[in-house]
Amino acid sequence: MSGSRRVTLKPGDTIGILGGGQLGRMLALAAARLGLRCQVFSPDPDSPAFDVVQNATCAEYADVEALELFVADVDVVTYEFENIPAATAMVLAARRPVLPDYRILETVQDRLVEKNFVSGLGIGTATYVDVASAQALREAIKIIGLPAVIKTIRFGYDGKGQAIIREGDDPGQVWDDLGTRSAIVEAFVPFEREISVIAARGADGGVECFDVTENEHRDHILKYSRVPAVIPDTLAAQARDIAKKIATALDYVGVLTVEMFVVPSADGLTLLVNEIAPRVHNSGHWTLDGASVSQFEQHIRAVAGWPLGKPVRHGSAVMTNLIGDDILDYEKWLTVPGASVHIYGKGPPRAGRKMGHVTEVKQSK
Ligand code: AMP
Repeated sequence: MSGSRRVTLKPGDTIGILGGGQLGRMLALAAARLGLRCQVFSPDPDSPAFDVVQNATCAEYADVEALELFVADVDVVTYEFENIPAATAMVLAARRPVLPDYRILETVQDRLVEKNFVSGLGIGTATYVDVASAQALREAIKIIGLPAVIKTIRFGYDGKGQAIIREGDDPGQVWDDLGTRSAIVEAFVPFEREISVIAARGADGGVECFDVTENEHRDHILKYSRVPAVIPDTLAAQARDIAKKIATALDYVGVLTVEMFVVPSADGLTLLVNEIAPRVHNSGHWTLDGASVSQFEQHIRAVAGWPLGKPVRHGSAVMTNLIGDDILDYEKWLTVPGASVHIYGKGPPRAGRKMGHVTEVKQSK
């Protein structure tokens, strides 16, 4: 069976999800609402997504035998995180369609390839230079200036694998502390705000974007998302166009997130793309309670080969992440009028661990 054949699932069919975190859990819940089953594959026996599906595979991503058994049970495969090993995806794609196409991971798993791809589309990014040694870092700083941000090329998230370099810092020490062989150095962007666009693209090439979301981080971790973002309508339209252009250039099927900086400039406000996430995203969690169709449902519809929803927002929404011990306040949140509480079922809280979220929707626009 070809990995690239067109998929059209029927209610009762099964979607295989790689990754068992909260995103996989919320995808499986959205699928269930549409009468679709999910089978989750994750190496972590405590995966929160296991709790909401009947069939789960707990095995390493390199376990070919387990992958073969898993893929035989599903009609299409998708994933909830971007660091899927290419070899894993290839084993699966030989048997069933993998959506979004796993070859896009080559672009988005590597910050340098991703930045080159985005700027190749004529879309703005922070100025960047790739570096592979402390000496190269010194040279890069001469080009980029300070402050600058250094990021490992692979496996960075929630501020991990990155550091700000300021005047007076020793580049040799920064390089050693990062402990990597390849990184990019970016100009520090004096952004006014951070926004994201959650875009869904169907197999027919149609794209539906949610309204632009504004994101506030604490200690490099998303704390609040607010929608609509407080930006001019023309800029919001530009942001959606950027996401659409990226999704189309990748021939993407599913939900994709584009994080951007809003930067004041002589010509007004401009947008710079920071990162692409080939998946549903924390900044889109408000859509579960704040829109007629959620980001999770859009992703499930897209990979099922079903028509995308046309999302209608119910009002202005604020999503608050419950991080670490914040979850201990869940009883307080349960009594807040209008608050929708989501608890991921992760067991003991740890500092920096996303344990749940709350969305408050106000009907005013
Ligand atoms: P990232 O891992 O690229 O998503 O970065 C995490 C966070 O670090 C972003 O959401 C920003 O708040 C901040 N950040 C990343 N890159 C830059 C930059 N070039 N200039 C300023 N802040 C940045």
